[in-house]
Amino acid sequence: MKKHNFSAGPSILPQEVFEKSAQAVLNFNNLGLSILEISHRSKDFVSVMEEARATALELLGLESKGYQALFLSGGASMEFVRVPYNLLKENGKAAYLDTGTWAAGAIKEAKRFGNTEIIGSSKEANYTYIPKDYTVPADADYFHCTSNNTIFGTQMHSFPETGVPMVCDMSSDIFSRELDFSKFGLIYAGAQKNMGPAGTTLVVVKEDILGKTGRAIPGIMDYGQHIAKESMYNTPPVFPVYTSLLTLQWIKNNGGVAAMEEKNNSKAELLYNEIDRNPLFTGTANTEDRSKMNVTFLLKDEKHTEQFDKLWKAADISGLNGHRSVGGYRASIYNAMPIESVKVLVDVMQELERNA
Ligand SMILES: *Cc1c(COP(=O)(O)O)cnc(C)c1O
Repeated sequence: MKKHNFSAGPSILPQEVFEKSAQAVLNFNNLGLSILEISHRSKDFVSVMEEARATALELLGLESKGYQALFLSGGASMEFVRVPYNLLKENGKAAYLDTGTWAAGAIKEAKRFGNTEIIGSSKEANYTYIPKDYTVPADADYFHCTSNNTIFGTQMHSFPETGVPMVCDMSSDIFSRELDFSKFGLIYAGAQKNMGPAGTTLVVVKEDILGKTGRAIPGIMDYGQHIAKESMYNTPPVFPVYTSLLTLQWIKNNGGVAAMEEKNNSKAELLYNEIDRNPLFTGTANTEDRSKMNVTFLLKDEKHTEQFDKLWKAADISGLNGHRSVGGYRASIYNAMPIESVKVLVDVMQELERNA
């Protein structure tokens, strides 16, 4: 029995992606070989990489606009390091928006490289909102933000106009909504939230922002070298890349990012409406900054905890516990989450209200 999986990451993927990737482990492209045992330089895998890179750009509307897509490894956390390595000049300055644990992690790494200015932060309010009252300094080498704060359940619903390259960690909302992605100089996303298994990170970078720091960059850290080697600088994480490609194809075959956004809006509306209507629950994030991917909420009275936990577990729901820094509950409703599963959760919340 497949559970209703609300896990924040690694998280749900489309069922057909699980099935096709499992098949490729046994017999890839009818080669009589597993995808796990063929050379990454073989024609069959090279075309996986090429298609994954092209489909990522296509879904974001960035083909033939000077961007390159890379599938790297080391997680989003590695990009916390690669970004300043590749973009922060020796005597330059980076501007960061501090909107949560992951944003703070990116800031910590940038500080090791040089002058890093935090131009807005909601830390004092335990990251329950997105700061809006900030200006990006015109002399910054780049501006870094986190589009969706996976732990705190907040999301940027608008982005500033900046005169400098805008870098965005989109790990938990990539491909979930339409944006003018050409506003960004660099986008990165760990696969395991909304794209694939853990082990690869999508990096989309506008080529003309690179090569300006005057720094010597080790090859593995250098976006330029990864581009020159067509995302095969070293052995790529073949299975996560293949599985990510299957998800990208699934998105494309199901109406693209616009169709994902429409479904995600319906799921988020259904769940937030229940949180706001049901007298037993309350949301934790500032209403206008609520995330459509990670819905964080609390029981108003903790005495109902045991009863609620029993009810959702009995309904085959999994992965609903909140992050330890917020407590309560977090329902992650990524692209692959069907609205039927959200309805099951809403039913359980209503059942608690009737029986509490
Ligand atoms: C999960 C997450 C990360 C960390 O990703 P790793 O791949 O574990 O390094 C970074 N940023 C955001 C927004 C995340 O949700």
